[in-house]
Amino acid sequence: ASAFQIPDSQKKTLVIVGSGWGSTGVLQNIDASKYNIVLVSQRDFFLFTPLLPSTPVGTVEHRSIIEPVHNIIKKQGGKIKFYEAEATAVNTTDKTVSIKSVNLAKPQEFDIKYDYLVMGVGAQVTTFGIPGVAEHAYFLKELEDSKKLRARITSVIEEAQFITDAAARKKLLNFVVVGGGPTGVEFAAELQDFINEDLSKTYPELAKEIKVSLVEALPNVLNMFGKQNIKYTQDTFRDIKIDLLTKTMVKNVTADKIDAVRVLDNGEKEAFSIEYGTLVWATGNAVRPLTKSIMASVEAQKEARRGLIVNDFLAVEGTQDMWALGDCSATKYAPTAQVALQEGKYLASVFSQLGQVNALEVELKNLEASLKTENDTEKISGLKGEIESKTRTLEKNKLVTPFEYNHQGAMAYIGNERAVFDLALYAKKIYPLSGRTAFVIWMGAYNAMCITARTKTLVAFDWLKTRTFGRDITRE
Ligand code: FAD
Ligand code: NAD
Repeated sequence: ASAFQIPDSQKKTLVIVGSGWGSTGVLQNIDASKYNIVLVSQRDFFLFTPLLPSTPVGTVEHRSIIEPVHNIIKKQGGKIKFYEAEATAVNTTDKTVSIKSVNLAKPQEFDIKYDYLVMGVGAQVTTFGIPGVAEHAYFLKELEDSKKLRARITSVIEEAQFITDAAARKKLLNFVVVGGGPTGVEFAAELQDFINEDLSKTYPELAKEIKVSLVEALPNVLNMFGKQNIKYTQDTFRDIKIDLLTKTMVKNVTADKIDAVRVLDNGEKEAFSIEYGTLVWATGNAVRPLTKSIMASVEAQKEARRGLIVNDFLAVEGTQDMWALGDCSATKYAPTAQVALQEGKYLASVFSQLGQVNALEVELKNLEASLKTENDTEKISGLKGEIESKTRTLEKNKLVTPFEYNHQGAMAYIGNERAVFDLALYAKKIYPLSGRTAFVIWMGAYNAMCITARTKTLVAFDWLKTRTFGRDITRE
């Protein structure tokens, strides 16, 4: 039996799955009074992913980049029901979501019936099935990934004190980041900052020995940026001593070494290996199992590859009353927070409007019922007038416009207090900015993007703390 009891039978039940960028965009902006809202997420917080690469080295603390879902619920009047659970299946015919608790010793499982469903489960990391990656690599997608990576960096420093053999030291102190997208670039930059600015003071010899390499299959890193900013990034990496291995594709990973193939200047391919101590894998997104299972069960989704196919209003093709947003949907937009948040705000306005339509429909039904039983001619004409005006408002409210994405540009932190920024202005023209100016803008923009005043404050204090006292990655 379902543990979920519908609080108000006059209202529709809206189930939102996930507490990431997309779902939080919906939650923060929806008129919650119009629905029975149920939030299902396997984590009880929103994660500010743009600053996740700063956390393994302690530039920013883990707790500073999360906002508890309870705070978001509180702001909405506390009426939202939250289950810390994994959605395990969606039955699009019966309109139910099956959920399973994630942290209870005795797991709880039941189905929730929905009138409307929003899927915002995001994506998971991809390994492209490359052997050894899942077993040996660290990732940087969830908060837990960052905590593991931070503990590993601390362990490496600790272990290095005990190792004297030159070859063993070289291997241990070799950090390899695979994937030259923004995640890989930003983490490599943060790690090198930590070495140059902090480790150099506490362990000067060790700081000289540690090596950070970034491996990218394509000829350049940050391929979504313009040429000028790509060059600036690669030049900065050279200056701050990050070893950049482009045109290099990793093929296999074991506990000690990475097997890769690089394309030489003459076009020939050469296989080689890198002995490593820590491998960080950042090669982008893969579809989550739940999303895959929906794709497989809905006829109109059979051709889907990157995620759920949605129409211009973000409704999932081939389903009734189901919407998808962010990284679990396949659209013409890149899988970014910027897109997911705008989609979330858009859906919040769609649902607020839909909520008004539902409320008007209930009112009209009630008015029509009283019209049938009324005898007084004056009251009858009054009721008719009210019905007519409500019907007009209802028709107007049904007019929803398609989602339109407003691209504001792309930014990445690249180390040594430098950033790159492809600023998108009118007519989608891109203006490249880089260096310290871009870094200051990056700080301002990322702080402004933190979704609550609480996280804005925590992040600002962390930056101040790091600048004043340096980074602290000791074990807690
Ligand atoms: P997510 O934010 O990933 O949220 C998914 C939610 O669903 C999570 O709460 C998760 O716990 C929950 N969930 C998953 N499966 C289930 C399930 N079965 N049942 C219940 N709940 C479930 N984009 C930018 O625009 N700018 C940046 O600077 C930027 N930096 C990034 C840095 C890093 C390190 C990473 C990894 C990504 C970055 N991105 C950035 C991309 C951005 O984070 C994603 O595009 C964005 O998170 C997508 O939002 P979403 O809501 O679709 O998914
Ligand atoms: P990505 O998909 O952007 O980049 C992955 C990179 O890994 C690609 O350049 C690819 O060529 C490379 N790669 C794949 N397989 C490889 C292999 N076997 N060997 C070597 N290189 C390999 O991934 P990401 O950086 O994790 O980003 C994921 C999404 O999140 C993107 O949409 C990105 O825009 C977004 N994001 C944005 C920001 C930002 O705006 N600052 C930061 C992080 C992530």
